[in-house]
Amino acid sequence: MTEVIDVVVIGAGVVGLAVARAMAKAGRDVIVVEQHHTFGTETSARNSEVIHAGIYYRPGGLRARLCVRGKDLLYDFCQSHNIGHKRCEKLIVANGDDEVAGLSKIKRNAQENGVCDLQRLSGREASDLEPGLRCDAALLSPSTGIVDSHGLMSALLGDLEDAGGALAVNAPVTGGEIQEQRVSLDVGGAERSTISARLVVNCAGLYAEKVARSIHGVPSKTIPALRYAKGQYFTSSGRAPFSRLIYPIPSPDSQGVHYTHDLGGQARLGPDIQWDAAIGDYHVDESRRSLFIAEARRFWPDLDPDRLQPGYAGIRPKIAGPGEEGDFMIVGPVDHGTPGYIGLYGIESPGLTSSLAIGEHVAALAPQ
Ligand SMILES: Cc1cc2nc3c(=O)[nH]c(=O)nc-3n(C[C@H](O)[C@H](O)[C@H](O)COP(=O)(O)OP(=O)(O)OC[C@H]3O[C@@H](n4cnc5c(N)ncnc54)[C@H](O)[C@@H]3O)c2cc1C
Repeated sequence: MTEVIDVVVIGAGVVGLAVARAMAKAGRDVIVVEQHHTFGTETSARNSEVIHAGIYYRPGGLRARLCVRGKDLLYDFCQSHNIGHKRCEKLIVANGDDEVAGLSKIKRNAQENGVCDLQRLSGREASDLEPGLRCDAALLSPSTGIVDSHGLMSALLGDLEDAGGALAVNAPVTGGEIQEQRVSLDVGGAERSTISARLVVNCAGLYAEKVARSIHGVPSKTIPALRYAKGQYFTSSGRAPFSRLIYPIPSPDSQGVHYTHDLGGQARLGPDIQWDAAIGDYHVDESRRSLFIAEARRFWPDLDPDRLQPGYAGIRPKIAGPGEEGDFMIVGPVDHGTPGYIGLYGIESPGLTSSLAIGEHVAALAPQ
């Protein structure tokens, strides 16, 4: 007879690891199954590593709530686990009357989300903080930061193992079935096997829709049709020009080409947004260079184009289309009436920031 595991989490990205950690710390027996040879090689390794404040998201939505809660949890977790991070702050910059007027709307939205520390600056005040920056006005976000995402995932895995959980690698889930009292999963790889769990949590990121559709019994009307939006970066060689992160006014589906840097001081521009990318297509299109330069020069006039080179790309799993504001979608037994399965879909930005709060949220949804 097959042994029944208490909880199986599919996918060892930052979200799967945070969910598994939260469940294990709540006393559950947890195994994470990951298709690759190690954890965190997909979207969790292809992002901006920004700890977002929670400024833009629709008030009351999951992204707004889990980002604001997740940011606080993440700063505490980084402190207690000695993970590289920096509260480096961010400037949202406006050029022209329309954009300047847009700053007030952004500030109001942030306040509704509980982000009450944004400071309005004149163009002069902003360039006093960041010489080399051009803008007519700005908002300063003191709680925005950056984090070592790999260090974060290693620490989540360490906590999971300390709490008795485990990670199984080279273990792709190829299908399954929801049965009475349990869910059976087919696992491929070198040694094919079937595992049974009381609860399965689908944290498969870009593959979450595919995995859900492969598990017989997950109601199809609760599985969203994901769309994939690629984000490409160009890196800039030489000294980082700004110590804070610099963002233009966002559109509903993207934060615009912005300036960030990592903990090592590597400066980069991006990500842009290209809809309907193929999963696995991480090629950076060099022909986008002139567009990046034009957009960045609006706030960084001295940008030297010769210092820009194609960087890397990541892909966002989205439940909304171009021009629409999406949200995370987390579907549990209460929503679909099927005990034993929780699906996480559309976990795009700010999924890294929100990861610990997502873990808390999912652990609370899980039937005992
Ligand atoms: C360009 C870009 C920039 C971003 N910037 C930020 C940012 O600055 N700050 C922020 O907070 N967020 C950011 N994000 C969002 C953040 O990176 C993601 O929300 C987060 O990494 C998602 O983690 P995940 O664990 O859900 O997905 P993933 O990291 O993709 O993990 C899913 C895992 O599931 C595994 N898997 C899939 N299918 C199977 C299967 N059948 N069997 C077993 N395993 C399977 C995969 O191999 C993978 O390891 C950004 C995203 C992108 C694309």
